[in-house]
Amino acid sequence: MNNVPIKTALVTGSTSGIGKAIALALAKEGICVIVNGRRDKSLITTMLSTIEELNNIKPCPYIQGDISNEKTRNAIIELIKKNYGYLNILVNNAGITTQNRKDMINLTEDDMLKVLKINCIAPFLLTTALYPMMVAKNTINYIINIASISSYTVSTNRADYCISKAGMSMMTKLFAIRFAADNIRVFELRPGIIQTDMTRPVQEKYDNLIANGLLPISRWGQPEDVAMVVDAITKGFYNYSTGEIINVDGGFHIARL
Ligand code: NAD
Repeated sequence: MNNVPIKTALVTGSTSGIGKAIALALAKEGICVIVNGRRDKSLITTMLSTIEELNNIKPCPYIQGDISNEKTRNAIIELIKKNYGYLNILVNNAGITTQNRKDMINLTEDDMLKVLKINCIAPFLLTTALYPMMVAKNTINYIINIASISSYTVSTNRADYCISKAGMSMMTKLFAIRFAADNIRVFELRPGIIQTDMTRPVQEKYDNLIANGLLPISRWGQPEDVAMVVDAITKGFYNYSTGEIINVDGGFHIARL
């Protein structure tokens, strides 16, 4: 009989796009994935049963709700505490972009607060609350922040988003230092232009930019491109690293002349 406890992972915002691909990749490794998102459970039954088939753990735990709401965060924490008592992998993925991309001059306090709360404050509070259940003695656990090329790239029509992702980059460094002695490694992925619901409204704009040479690797990124990096990190291939940034952007970050 195998007495090794099952590994647990929480992927926020995992009902679509990058988060969904990450959840499926982790489930494929036999990890118990806790899914979170805003969609009603009835809309994601196919995805939940796919995860159950991959990791053979039924039912796949799902917490529906907005992570910027304290009640949702508490429900996540309680579920993990009650059912497992520990968390091996936390992927801070849930995020939104600027509502109706607008010139930064016209951003209101409400606009700013909405994006900063979901993209920055919620992952900070969720992570610090889950930290006691991630402290590891005989294993190495992982926190992976899904930031963006917007952590360092200026888009004046998405200032709130850029500020939130720059904030997440500082969070990566803070967590890496604070949690290093507890066997928790912290990584930041910076996806580039990834084909998901988030980028659908600007598909044509990015199609043209890519066709005109924006990316050295000249294609859209796919959610699975990001998920494969999470898979590699959580398999332990980077265990002597922490606070590391991995660009998943087709080479976008390389300044060219
Ligand atoms: P997406 O819209 O397909 O997925 C976002 C997911 O997060 C959805 O499942 C949504 O329900 C969930 N979500 C949003 N707000 C939430 C909240 N308050 N509480 C709980 N869940 C919430 O978009 P995506 O492209 O897969 O984005 C995932 C992450 O990747 C985001 O943090 C985004 O900023 C980041 N990112 C995306 C791109 C890209 O080009 N698509 C590039 C860089 C970074």
